Amino acid sequence: MFFLLRKFGALLRLKPLPVRAGGVPASSVPAGKDGFSSHASADAPGMMRFLSGLVWNPYLAAVREGLTLALPIIIAGTVAILVNGFPWDAYQELMGSAFGPHWKRLGGYIYNGTFGIISLVMVLGIGHSLAEDYNAGNPLDQVAPSIAGFISFSCLLCTMEPVSIPAGGELAFSLRWIGVYGLLPAIAAALISSALFRFFLRFPSLRITLYSGSAVSSVPQTLNTLVPAILTIIVFACGKTAAAFYGTADIHTAIYHWLSRPFQAMGENHLETALIYGAARHVLWFVGIHGANVLEPVMQELYVPAMQANIAGHQAGLPALSVFTKPFFDCYTSLGGSGSTLGLLIACLLGYKDSGARNIAKLSLIPSVFNVNEILLFGLPVVLSPVFLIPFILTPLVSTIIAYFACVWGIVPVTVHDVAWNVPVFFNGYLATGSVKGALLQAFNLLVAVAIYRPFVALDAGLRKKQFNENFKKLVDSAVEGDTTDSGPRLLNRPGAVGGLAHSLAGDMREALRRGELFLRFQPQVNSDTGRVYGVESLMRWQHPHIGHIPPLVFIGLAEDTGYILDLGLWAFEQSVLQMSEWRNAGVQDVVMSVNVSAKQLEDRHLPDKLMEILGRRRVPVESVKLEVTESVALTSHMIKNEVLARLHSLNFQLVIDDFGMGHSSLTYLKKFPVGSLKLDAVLSRDVLVSRSSCEIVSSVADLCNTLGINLVAEYVEDEAHLLKLRALGCRNVQGYFYSPPLSPEAAFRFITGTHKAYGVPVRRLPAECSG
Ligand code: C2E
Ligand code: CA
Ligand code: CA
Repeated sequence: MFFLLRKFGALLRLKPLPVRAGGVPASSVPAGKDGFSSHASADAPGMMRFLSGLVWNPYLAAVREGLTLALPIIIAGTVAILVNGFPWDAYQELMGSAFGPHWKRLGGYIYNGTFGIISLVMVLGIGHSLAEDYNAGNPLDQVAPSIAGFISFSCLLCTMEPVSIPAGGELAFSLRWIGVYGLLPAIAAALISSALFRFFLRFPSLRITLYSGSAVSSVPQTLNTLVPAILTIIVFACGKTAAAFYGTADIHTAIYHWLSRPFQAMGENHLETALIYGAARHVLWFVGIHGANVLEPVMQELYVPAMQANIAGHQAGLPALSVFTKPFFDCYTSLGGSGSTLGLLIACLLGYKDSGARNIAKLSLIPSVFNVNEILLFGLPVVLSPVFLIPFILTPLVSTIIAYFACVWGIVPVTVHDVAWNVPVFFNGYLATGSVKGALLQAFNLLVAVAIYRPFVALDAGLRKKQFNENFKKLVDSAVEGDTTDSGPRLLNRPGAVGGLAHSLAGDMREALRRGELFLRFQPQVNSDTGRVYGVESLMRWQHPHIGHIPPLVFIGLAEDTGYILDLGLWAFEQSVLQMSEWRNAGVQDVVMSVNVSAKQLEDRHLPDKLMEILGRRRVPVESVKLEVTESVALTSHMIKNEVLARLHSLNFQLVIDDFGMGHSSLTYLKKFPVGSLKLDAVLSRDVLVSRSSCEIVSSVADLCNTLGINLVAEYVEDEAHLLKLRALGCRNVQGYFYSPPLSPEAAFRFITGTHKAYGVPVRRLPAECSG
């Protein structure tokens, strides 16, 4: 098995499939008309291909995503279960005497509103995730995810048989089927309704097109999918009607009845029966069915009577009778809940570096002690996760065999006391057997469970890492491609997992400043005639504690999306000014600090006053700083931005147009706009080595700057050939790795003073230091 595992892991590592938002590999995406396709690699051996296909299967991935969306509700429900059911008589009495006989009502209502309706929550979540996945594969045909969630929700309710409430004779949906017992039908309804909805979306004749502007914003999108939505619901209602016509009005009960039928007569209370019972229970749980409930007939027929016989025998002083009883399964095969998930939890804490999975494990710790494992089952998730299928079934079976032989060989006494399922691990083993050996056997089984789960956790951790890297790369690509003129969020609204990553990074960022993870680097700007540094550009850095270096374009983009850039921009300005003041005090007088200013900051009317206030407080003259704004921002028609730019100019701030030549250029604008410097865009700057037209553009921009008294700077100058070419075209001021990468404050100071001492002597290339 370990060999198989290693091969599976190696296969997934060796054949990286770029993952689309929502966990779907992009390489094989644009196949089917519905935006889905098979993701298994063609040359993988059969079994492996099957498994990797399952892991990346878009429907399964969306179901897992949908399950985790329900996590807040699951956690609230878990707290209610723990508070109401804490298995200690003194506690129960204390709560009763403190809050009265109805003290459990509060927890009961929370349970009803959480686990009591968990199937409805899941169907909404899965419908929503599947729509996001559809959107990621169909950029030109976006479906509102909430509408898709509602459709799945509606379809599920169409299949339910209302029950009549005795008092008043009204009809209602049973809490049983909209709660934990109804999970499988809910998952199935979400999957089938989404597939049907997608099918109907494929027919253009079923789409109602309304031109934007002719209605309030969400109406066109809603109307566009109206007919496919109605048809999907009608198909479900027809299915239900047909089932009722053929005598199965209550589909939910029928499913449970049908599933439990093979287990009605399980035979003798033997090891084989126990293994079949254990395997069936966990396979059912794995697909979202309440396994213990389906198998209740077996429990009632075999294991409850066996327990009663053991208790009676024990009281009569007879030798114990049956090994397999209800407490046997609770104590030895459900350590921390079905699947011996306490073992999984420990394996998670040992194996995951990924903070998301670790946090889920930590959150499950206390509930798991009381054998409540829903947070782990749905949060990690284990349910429908192909990676955990094998250990989730194997661990309880191995535990069953170990505990069986421990009992048969007389190493551990059999269970002779009934113990509630939620009595904490080790206590229940001790209480059920009346011997500390019961608890020791549990400890041994726990170790075995950890050992079985560990390689699978490692495999899952590898897959998560890979998926993270691919999502992160997509986020970086979105940041690089982003259009700064767009006023809406650019990174936060990415669909699926990429958007999720953007949101979690944006959350981390709020803490980053406080924890000192953000800092500045300074890149020298050099006059290539003399080799002397005349300016530095301050560039922000974020060293994330788990991820490492986050590219500025990503976190600046996120800060713009959240509005945090207003604080962050001021912080960067103040730190830059502080640095300038330090250098000035140390004798560096004629160097100007360029600070980047984001488009969003220019929408703040009070920006000029805030900047002046900082300069005044730090006693740095306004002439010592320049503000860099990108070209697209500088050429704005935005009223407030124009006002702010004009006011900055009137306060004597020097404005630099960054990334000049990105395609927004209007040379005549330079006459109107109070520009101090122009920075050539990296692409234009580099292109002079290969493109004649770029040379001509740069040369005429240089002439124009010369005439208008504007300082022209070229960025990304990495080698001598590039420098010589730019100089020949009339551009003498440069910034780039040829002279220096961005440096730490100390290294920048040494660099600046070094060039000043060597004034007049062209500076040779210095070794790169403190980059990044
Ligand atoms: P930018 O303003 O165009 O900054 C120049 C970028 O070019 C910097 O990237 C710099 O490290 C990089 N660079 C300079 N010389 C070379 C070279 O020779 N070769 C190469 N390959 N790269 C070179 P960085 O630091 O990653 O910053 C990226 C962008 O993030 C900046 O582009 C700027 O738009 C933004 N940014 C950085 N810091 C701040 C900040 O404090 N505030 C705001 N609003 N934006 C910032
Ligand atoms: Ca810049
Ligand atoms: Ca630039």
